[in-house]
Amino acid sequence: MSEKKLFGTNGIRGLVNVELTPEMAIKVGCAIGTFFGRKNLLVGHDARTSGTLFSKAVISGLMATGCNVFFAGMAPTPSLQFAVKNHKMDGGVIITASHNPPEYNGIKVIWSDGIETSHEQETEIENIYYQNKIVFAPWDKLGEARDLPGINDEYVQAIKTHVNQAKIAEKHFHVVIDAANSVGGLTAPPLLRELGCKITTINANIDGTFPGRLPEPRPENLTDLSSTVKAIGADMGVAFDGDADRSIFTDESGTIYWGDKTFAVVIKQFLLKNKGAKIVTPVSSSTLIKDTVDAYKGELIWTKVGSVTVSQKMKEVDAKLGGEENGGIFYGPHQAVRDGAMTTALLLNIMAETAMPLSKLVAEQPQYFIEKGKIECPDDKKEVVLQKIYEQVKGENISTIDGVKIWFSDSSAILIRPSGTENVFRLYAEAKNQTKALKLVEDYSSRLKKILETV
Ligand code: MG
Repeated sequence: MSEKKLFGTNGIRGLVNVELTPEMAIKVGCAIGTFFGRKNLLVGHDARTSGTLFSKAVISGLMATGCNVFFAGMAPTPSLQFAVKNHKMDGGVIITASHNPPEYNGIKVIWSDGIETSHEQETEIENIYYQNKIVFAPWDKLGEARDLPGINDEYVQAIKTHVNQAKIAEKHFHVVIDAANSVGGLTAPPLLRELGCKITTINANIDGTFPGRLPEPRPENLTDLSSTVKAIGADMGVAFDGDADRSIFTDESGTIYWGDKTFAVVIKQFLLKNKGAKIVTPVSSSTLIKDTVDAYKGELIWTKVGSVTVSQKMKEVDAKLGGEENGGIFYGPHQAVRDGAMTTALLLNIMAETAMPLSKLVAEQPQYFIEKGKIECPDDKKEVVLQKIYEQVKGENISTIDGVKIWFSDSSAILIRPSGTENVFRLYAEAKNQTKALKLVEDYSSRLKKILETV
């Protein structure tokens, strides 16, 4: 087994020409091609300045190992994932660094079902890469490359079939779209226009330097969206991340909601229509999700943190809805992956069917206050520290799916989780008031510090 790691939580990521170089991308392409073994693969990229460069490098590697490449050009990650399944490809490769700043890029591998490859499959690719197990094709068995245009429109048309188009059109919603100067601008504007919405766009011109805002849709990056919605009296605002698999919304007053609030809106309506349905979410999700699933009598299934894990769990238990607090919603009837445009259509559908503005749909939810903290801890001590914390709290209402999560009787909760990428423990606390949430972070931070002194 290799000690080195190529893949992080969501594919390979790195600084362009520093951590992620063209030579490396060719070799990664060769490793992916060897892993699939002379199959048909779809390749596309987001709007980063290095998208074409890394697509061509990866394509070279795939062709050298005998894979036929279908090149879709620029597309959101969920559009490429949908096309892999729709065109019965054996898999795909997406060149994107998702929400990272413009100087980054990355490589994600997609399996034939449209879901990112599992960590086991990534390890196989890593082993091929590091142990020089690449199998080149002979000169007369090289892969071919051709263009596959039109996938973004196929994706838009597919999303429309999952909502009540007539009902949405009746409402003449005015929506402001902040596309982060990336690929969300290729699909969300036509989708919403075809659904009968009036749209106003900001940062919708494709520009890989991302001049409008950073591609992470965090509230501090969305002030323009918020003020535009307010100024023009729109019904809703939506902002995507760099590859448009995540979406964050504002209501008609410009108030920005973190993803757990919109996910809870979707869960409620989904459970009203699908009694007892399974809802999949990582253990880092807010208690709001648990409360909503309990209130509308669904079955909540917790997973480890990470979008691939949510997708795979949805498949395993045949769940039709999943979500993350960061604005990633997985709608199984369309595809079991995070999908920003599908989420936007779902919310418009809910606003149309309930005849309620987003502010009202969110206002009826219980409110929680969230506090976060982190404590430094060397990588080799994480496991023993986690074990000690577990021993201290094992009598309480806990989950050990990923780190340790404790739910208290007053509806407050804390998740203590070793970071997969940094030498820290992360603490996420929530409670009905800020003071309690803060106190939980303080209490468990000092417990962690005490444990660290003894190990
Ligand atoms: Mg993303």
